[in-house]
Amino acid sequence: PARTRFAPSPTGFMHIGGLRTALFSYLLAKRTGGQFLLRIEDTDQKRLVQGAEQRIFDDLQWAGLQWDEGPGVGGPYGSYKQSERNDIYQKHAQHLLDSGTAYRCFCTSQTAGAAASLAYVTSGCYQSCSSLTHDESQTKAKEKHEPFTVRLVQPKDVHKRVYKDLIYGKIKRLKRSPSASSSASVEDGAGSSLDLADTILIKSDGTPTYHFANVVDDHLMQITHVIRGTEWMASTPLHYDLYTAFGWEPPEFAHVGLLLDKDKAKLSKRNADLQLDVFSLRGAEGVLPETLINFLVLLGWSNPQESDVLQLQDMIEIFDLKFTTGNTVCDTKKLWFLQKQHVQRRCLDARQQRESSHISGIVERIQKTVLEVYSSDLLVGRAQIAHQNGTMRQYCEELLLLDDKNYQTPKQWVERNNYFFTYNTSQVPESKDFVLDEPKVTLSDVQEAVKGALSEWSENLGSRPDTLDHPPPKLGAVPDGKDANSTHFLLPAELENAVIHDALHKSISELSTNRVRG
Ligand code: GLU
Repeated sequence: PARTRFAPSPTGFMHIGGLRTALFSYLLAKRTGGQFLLRIEDTDQKRLVQGAEQRIFDDLQWAGLQWDEGPGVGGPYGSYKQSERNDIYQKHAQHLLDSGTAYRCFCTSQTAGAAASLAYVTSGCYQSCSSLTHDESQTKAKEKHEPFTVRLVQPKDVHKRVYKDLIYGKIKRLKRSPSASSSASVEDGAGSSLDLADTILIKSDGTPTYHFANVVDDHLMQITHVIRGTEWMASTPLHYDLYTAFGWEPPEFAHVGLLLDKDKAKLSKRNADLQLDVFSLRGAEGVLPETLINFLVLLGWSNPQESDVLQLQDMIEIFDLKFTTGNTVCDTKKLWFLQKQHVQRRCLDARQQRESSHISGIVERIQKTVLEVYSSDLLVGRAQIAHQNGTMRQYCEELLLLDDKNYQTPKQWVERNNYFFTYNTSQVPESKDFVLDEPKVTLSDVQEAVKGALSEWSENLGSRPDTLDHPPPKLGAVPDGKDANSTHFLLPAELENAVIHDALHKSISELSTNRVRG
């Protein structure tokens, strides 16, 4: 059984790339009957973002990736929050100091004058602090209270060492570059200090760097497999060195490529046609959790099954570490394709089990969007009545079940189905299908359209047993008694058949386009 972890730094809101890493780690643990851990890597207090930690918890739980050990859940190796583990890091740093695999470095930016000295070039330390005796070092630190960092002595044979990755095979160590910038500025540890020979493990403020805390924790928490983005691949040799310095067995590493947009640029806020943070996709876009994890699992993993439509349980049954090497382009068309599939499945469950909770979230969003897009005085017909007597929710649910196969986002769906709510479709922002500003579709138009659809539909009736309980709607039975040519029409309440709906949809689109053109 694998023990995996997701180790985010709460320095921003959760990105879809982060959720994908968490998903892969979760799947490996579940596939092998192991555990999935959540560890908050918050040692860099300067970069913390208010609320980000809670957002991580919420987003993971929303996606269904419940951790077995971690914040809120506990576990035998806690705390699972690095800022609460400093005594553990101090103890482990002391262990390396005692064994001579690390040393205290007393250089500060004031001593940086000798930047070109040989010692600096080879170790990142200006004054050869590694040659201080144990006692000298102890005195400076404990009696004179001189500030210091703790550095790892770079092993002599590093260039002979091999570093293994399950996806990429052998990992090359970055060649140290003499241009590596001043050691004082690389204290944060993440990434930049890699070029320096003697990596800082403990910063002068006494807190650990990412590398040190990450390795100590992965070991103590008995992590067997580290799955993370390739941006961390360059750190892996250093992590191996740390395991060696401690005499520990390293876990297996599997690095996954970055996510790119359709122009093959790294996903970023600027060029996104896809919302990058999980929270926005959940929120305004109304992406279902199963849609998003289905979309993400297919990015950089070779799905062995024919169908790409997978639920979490399916993924657990077939998951393996067959990641593709290199970066992966996100095709947002796929996201919306999957969204339609998952919405339809939920609607089917709702129908079959007569249980509207399967779709209550979607219905709520539709209802909210309707009321945002149309002011209540623009609502007409059944929408108006539903609004007045507080049954808008049921009305939206009924409509969703009629047109479930076309649901992508709440806004797109309401726009598509706008004639069920209002005449004044110009109220719908970016309406592409319709440009009606006057009520131009009358009841008789609708009757004609439905009659046409019905003759088609009744031919197919025999093959659709599910429609038999529901007799075709009685046309013209307009509850408020308005005449057929009135511009105020009410649609028959029993329009519960998708065949009619679809034909109706088409006919009305055609009608209104013709009218606009005419
Ligand atoms: N805290 C790192 C991050 O935010 C973890 C990287 C790793 O998984 O080792 O991505």
